[in-house]
Amino acid sequence: MSITVVVGAQWGDEGKGKITDILAEEADLVVRYQGGNNAGHTVVVGEEEFKLHLIPSGILHPDCTCMMADGTLIDPQVLAEEIQQLQERGHGCENLRVSCNAHVIMPYHRLLDELAEEARGSKSIGTTRRGIGPAYTDKTARMPRAVRFGDLADAGRLRGLIADQLAQKNVIIQELYEHSPLDPEEVFEEVWTVAQTVSKYTTDTHKIIQDAARAGKQIIFEGAQGTFLDLDYGTYPFVTSSHPVAGGACLGTGVGPTAIDEVTLVCKAYTTRVGAGILPTEAADEAAQQLRDRGAEYGTTTGRPRRCGWLDGVVLRSAALINGATSVALTKLDVLDTLPIIPVCVGYEIEGVLVDTVPAWADDLGKVRPVYEEMPGWQQALGQVRQWSELPPAARAYVEKVEALAAVPVSMISVGASRQQTIFID
Ligand code: GDP
Repeated sequence: MSITVVVGAQWGDEGKGKITDILAEEADLVVRYQGGNNAGHTVVVGEEEFKLHLIPSGILHPDCTCMMADGTLIDPQVLAEEIQQLQERGHGCENLRVSCNAHVIMPYHRLLDELAEEARGSKSIGTTRRGIGPAYTDKTARMPRAVRFGDLADAGRLRGLIADQLAQKNVIIQELYEHSPLDPEEVFEEVWTVAQTVSKYTTDTHKIIQDAARAGKQIIFEGAQGTFLDLDYGTYPFVTSSHPVAGGACLGTGVGPTAIDEVTLVCKAYTTRVGAGILPTEAADEAAQQLRDRGAEYGTTTGRPRRCGWLDGVVLRSAALINGATSVALTKLDVLDTLPIIPVCVGYEIEGVLVDTVPAWADDLGKVRPVYEEMPGWQQALGQVRQWSELPPAARAYVEKVEALAAVPVSMISVGASRQQTIFID
């Protein structure tokens, strides 16, 4: 048996899609365990680029079964579109399964997300406005008769659930946000149209995952977002509504912690973040723009420019501990190719005191001053390198610095978006 969790070390967009796609070559199952279509993974196969928001990155391997497990959220409209787009490009989704327990993002969740974010004004928390927060809120509030994926197969049941939900939601929509109410029948029609095409993928995913684990199958749990967007371990309140950390994989899939064999921490060679919230190693404008241009740091889902900065060793070490990482996959090393000097944050100073962990309290985070070590750049293109021994000494030193900071070995180095642009280290 081998279960590997692939998890982002930073604020998401680390390149988890590429790493999952590579590991999926050997996998029987690839399972997403949290989040919804607020994620966006890009996978490059040959000349083709696939942008996946909901469906696990393993879908491009025909022998691999892909699942959206219990802990995920499904917008049926987005799922139907993604399935159609994959099918049009020759990738059937016969091997896709969606948990009957996964909660459904409904049109009223999207509207409430939008209205709440508008109402926050300058205090916006930067949601993707896809309805993720309101849908998870309903789930954790144990909202009676919330719609789950298993409910989409039965028109009568779905109609009744929507009517019940809107009886309550319309009060908030009208009274709090002064917006016109949603019509239950219109919402039903909108959802039912796509429900008929996606509900055939419904199943009891945790049973299949447990059976596969017992049968010794290779399983990948694919995290979305990143460690520091985790609801508990992220930089609250600028976090997501679920648990991207490796522990979230147990909650979201229905296997116990003892079943996990490996945790691959995907760490970008520098740091990015979308939207508001602390980013201690954020680079000055010109350097940030250079990283953004070379790394094409614009959101897969939203197109928003990402904030860019230097590798943060404190974040990396904390992520290795929170996730129980067994190895690091270092991505986008090639983005640093042209730099003569590369600053790496090796610690934080808070009011004159050196610390080596990410402070738990947001106020302290605001006072963090990164302590940098300057590493020499290699100033040559790494895109064609396939072996550790072919890497220039300065690039090897950079990877070794990552290992030292994480206190976990680096097992893969990514030097470009394609599958081939990967160095495996024994
Ligand atoms: P994810 O959500 O963690 O999968 O990350 P994204 O897909 O949002 O962002 C990663 C982007 O970087 C994608 O466009 C990938 O194709 C690309 N990418 C992945 N690895 C590398 C790499 O090593 N070098 C370069 N230049 N691009 C990469």
